[in-house]
Amino acid sequence: MRIEYTLKVEAEYHIGSGLTQPGLADETIVRRHDGQLFIPAEYFRGLLRDCCTQILYWTGNYKFCCDAALYKAPVEGEMVQSSVTKTCGLNYRVNEAPCVLCRIFVTTFAKKSYRFSDAEFEKFDCGDEEFEPVPISTHNRIDPATGRVPQDLLFTFELGKPAIFKGYIERVEPFPKTELLLEEFGLIIAGLRLIERIGKRSARGWGWAYVDQISLALRGGLKDELPVQVKDSPEDWRVWLKAFLLGGDESEMVASEG
Ligand SMILES: [Zn+2]
Repeated sequence: MRIEYTLKVEAEYHIGSGLTQPGLADETIVRRHDGQLFIPAEYFRGLLRDCCTQILYWTGNYKFCCDAALYKAPVEGEMVQSSVTKTCGLNYRVNEAPCVLCRIFVTTFAKKSYRFSDAEFEKFDCGDEEFEPVPISTHNRIDPATGRVPQDLLFTFELGKPAIFKGYIERVEPFPKTELLLEEFGLIIAGLRLIERIGKRSARGWGWAYVDQISLALRGGLKDELPVQVKDSPEDWRVWLKAFLLGGDESEMVASEG
């Protein structure tokens, strides 16, 4: 079962590619050897994790158990002393299901149950047929002492125009209990809705983006395991999000469907 999404990048962005010097452009949107643009799965996963963490803070559901992701893996001696290395399954919630954040985004001690795809370039979205999709932009800095451009300060990057990307998040493990699944999906969907930027560079509004469409794709006889068929309508999402906030009340969801 997959959550499929369409990401609209509405403002210009750097393209990390062979043209750039390392470190000058971020590597959020990159180019494959065949020229195709995409957003690497690992970047998108990190971005969504940040959004989901925010939601958990706002709703008072953050478990303070996933801090380990921010640090190096602890060696044995450190685990006991330091609270920042608490992780679901390690020294926190050992006998319970890992928290929703760990179930979706995985820590060392939680099983991987979701696969994040790369977000693939779909098309440019400029409303103008005559534009140059990927202009190359060259920048330099003149050394005031010599009036010349030192070689180190000359750099070039590709500038991407507004574009649409598509990706998915797939549940690869067998389904947990319905309320756990609702909690996971509710959080993923709410997190997707919270995305507002791609890339590190925020000056001049670069990389402004949002998730335009979300849909649920079911495959191979899994349909019966789901309480509702979710479409991309605000009403459906509200129900799912509400279920998440309430801790997942299945009966209420079915009732509000009709
Ligand atoms: Zn956790």
